Amino acid sequence: MATYDREQMKALTYQGEGDVKVMDVPKPSISGSNDALVKVTMGAVCGSDLHILHGHTPMNVGAVLGHEFVGVVEDVGGEVKRFKPGDRVVSSFFTSCGHCRLCRKGWFNQCVDKGTFGHGEYFGGLGGGQAEYVVVPNADHTMEDIPEGMSDEQAIFVGDILATGFFGAERAEIKAGDNVAVVGAGPVGLMATMCAQLFGPARTFVIDMVDSRLEVAQELGGIPINAKETHPVSYIEQATEGIGADSSIECVGLLSAVDTAIHVVRGGGTISMVGVPSAVQGDFPYLRMWLKSLTFRAGWCNVQAYMRPLLDLIAAGRLRPEKIISHRMRLDQAEEAYRIFDAREATKIILTP
Ligand code: NAD
Ligand code: ZN
Repeated sequence: MATYDREQMKALTYQGEGDVKVMDVPKPSISGSNDALVKVTMGAVCGSDLHILHGHTPMNVGAVLGHEFVGVVEDVGGEVKRFKPGDRVVSSFFTSCGHCRLCRKGWFNQCVDKGTFGHGEYFGGLGGGQAEYVVVPNADHTMEDIPEGMSDEQAIFVGDILATGFFGAERAEIKAGDNVAVVGAGPVGLMATMCAQLFGPARTFVIDMVDSRLEVAQELGGIPINAKETHPVSYIEQATEGIGADSSIECVGLLSAVDTAIHVVRGGGTISMVGVPSAVQGDFPYLRMWLKSLTFRAGWCNVQAYMRPLLDLIAAGRLRPEKIISHRMRLDQAEEAYRIFDAREATKIILTP
């Protein structure tokens, strides 16, 4: 039998559908000259982790979870130029090479050599941020330094849900005085609600079925609509003189939510979908899309393009993403964290090793 003299660390691992466990696993170390080893100071649980938990995202048993994290650089490869040990950093939830044709066009999420943290072998075999340490490839391109005076809680969402909320809002083409509908008030929907305000909408309707989340949406400038009690399409029509919203941001990933996002929008409007689809295919109301001359945008967030400007907006006090944190837990409570987040008893959970 092999002897393991490698240093160990604590990490949350995938054990099969519905089953995650905190375990001791080998501490990773840098192998490429562009890598950085980051000592994680805070990780978060994301709605995309629930897709893995529910078996909607392919994942190998034993893989380390987590793709939202901040930390301190412990070691860097010889070619890393922007970072040195001791630097506080936030990472994008995926890596891109930074120099392929699509990266050079600014579409980092379409990079030919992309990997996603905490998503196992099928997504590039990277480690995860719900752990004590993680190796970040292409560190110069994947990470940003955290400005002095900014806390981990303020910075952590820049690498995923805040960037995604901004991406969703930007691609909804919100103009001053517009009416916007956000479908889903999970962490991503709440970030979309917060970021939508930067574009000057008159009203931001937020649709969900969980009151505790809708309350946060209201604090962020949203008009809450509980879809269990109120029909969102008729409510928004009534509130907009029968027209409908100018645009919608879909933040769920279910066909029913996409349908709502399409139905609430006026003729000539725009739908911006950021929810990760829970199915490969589904019914798409293309006749309605055609009749109403709608624009439909979708995709995962082009994070690397947004991290720096978002950090500047946070530093300037224009965005307060940490407001949505409902639970602060320890990494060794991660199994419980997944349970309560999945049950929607928690809005957003951060984990500290
Ligand atoms: P979440 O699961 O916590 O939130 C989803 C919310 O949608 C819940 O509050 C739920 O009650 C609500 N909901 C469910 N069905 C609905 C419906 N028909 N109408 C209105 N609301 C409905 O997840 P999250 O962390 O907020 O993430 C949301 C989605 O965004 C997930 O699919 C996640 O994978 C995805 N995501 C995408 C990106 C990206 O790059 N595009 C990045 C991060 C997360
Ligand atoms: Zn995520």
